[in-house]
Amino acid sequence: MRALPPAAALAITLVAACAVNPATGEREFSLMSESQEIAIGRESDAQVRQEMGIYEDPDLQRYVSDIGMRLAALSERPNLPWQFTVVDVPAVNAFAIPGGFIYITRGILPFLANEAQLAGVLGHEIGHVTARHSAQQYSRAVGGTLGLAALGIFVPAARPFGQISEQALAVLFLKYGRDDELQADSLGARYAASGGWDPAGVPAFLSTLGRLDQAAGDRRGVPNWLSTHPEPLSRVDEVGPLVAELKTGSTDFSVDRAAFERQIDGLVFGDDPTQGVVRGSSFLHPELRFQLDFPNQWQVSNSPQQVLAKAPNADVFMLLELVQRPQGGDLRSVALGQMQMAGFRAVEGAATRVANFDAFLGRYQGAIEGLGEVDIRAAHVDYDGRVYLIAGIVPSSGFARADATFQTAIRSFRALSAREAEEIRPNLVDFYTVRNGDTWQSIAARSGGAITPEALAVMNEADPGSTPATGTRIKIVVGG
Ligand SMILES: [Zn+2]
Repeated sequence: MRALPPAAALAITLVAACAVNPATGEREFSLMSESQEIAIGRESDAQVRQEMGIYEDPDLQRYVSDIGMRLAALSERPNLPWQFTVVDVPAVNAFAIPGGFIYITRGILPFLANEAQLAGVLGHEIGHVTARHSAQQYSRAVGGTLGLAALGIFVPAARPFGQISEQALAVLFLKYGRDDELQADSLGARYAASGGWDPAGVPAFLSTLGRLDQAAGDRRGVPNWLSTHPEPLSRVDEVGPLVAELKTGSTDFSVDRAAFERQIDGLVFGDDPTQGVVRGSSFLHPELRFQLDFPNQWQVSNSPQQVLAKAPNADVFMLLELVQRPQGGDLRSVALGQMQMAGFRAVEGAATRVANFDAFLGRYQGAIEGLGEVDIRAAHVDYDGRVYLIAGIVPSSGFARADATFQTAIRSFRALSAREAEEIRPNLVDFYTVRNGDTWQSIAARSGGAITPEALAVMNEADPGSTPATGTRIKIVVGG
């Protein structure tokens, strides 16, 4: 989590129009002109940057951008204001916004083997833009058929408390259909090949994402590539013939493993401690120096605006966020003012202490889209000059049962000592030469739990059931 200024809301005027799809040449119904597409892209881009954060490595950003721009120049829409950005998100994902704004997460990079695969991912996302998939999806989304349900767990908390524009967010989590995916795969392979990269990078990264899908049961609930780009493994076969065709007549494609590996050496893997880390169901923030234990088994996700936790298989949520404190406001008025602004009425409230800090504990009622009437147990805690909101949210009928759980979690809030904070460091991508007798398990174990053996194998284009070959150089994850 990070404190951020409010985001501007998106204001869009939709005009129905029939447009020619630049990548396919077919006429189709679209709600968006190209200039609207670009306008929406620019506004959404500002929000993506603010909400996800930009990964701070100018060399890496330039590297990714250069490859993307080379590919985009070869596409059917070279004159869009193309932009390629690595966002500071640990999940494995890449996505495109109408108008030519393409993002890849830092989390996807360790799962790519070389520059040709990176070109394949970027080419795939360029394909979504040139074929206007995201513009069409966006038209459908704001037209009402693809509602906010697609956003999953982010919606309930985002709506009352966050500063997130739902329409901008909706674009990020649009699920593409199978035909769109196949088309983007083909376009991506074509662009990569025209740029001189081996188009086999496309099926190669699809294979890796498919393995990741099978290996990573613990990633469910987090919006990632697999939730927005379905069925990677079946697509490997589909794109095969085109890749073979593109490769006939030329063997001179670049793969460039060495250049790619130089760029991801030292990349942050998993949580970045400067924004707090999730450990099991707890959230620890070494810079803001606190820990909060959400209920056991709850799924916790961290974003710059807030930390959100969800009960397994139930619409019960907790969130943690920093509250803007108006000058001179006492805690009670800060608490009541914020909740009122968010559209909730106070039912009860009293001053209390949480871990020796001043706090205001209240109960609030209101409505949240998707949940209906809700009750909220919220504490505003005054710690180290900042006010934290810790809130439990549940449909009103379930409040009596959930309140004790909420209050236990709220009261787990505590300060971290300097030493405890010091021990929380980021994990980093590194390289290692496999020795005789090594297994994925033994190599993963040496990293102190920073990565599972399955993910380590997949990261190195290997089946988790295989044995790493002695003498090969592999990617590993080490404690910082
Ligand atoms: Zn896709």
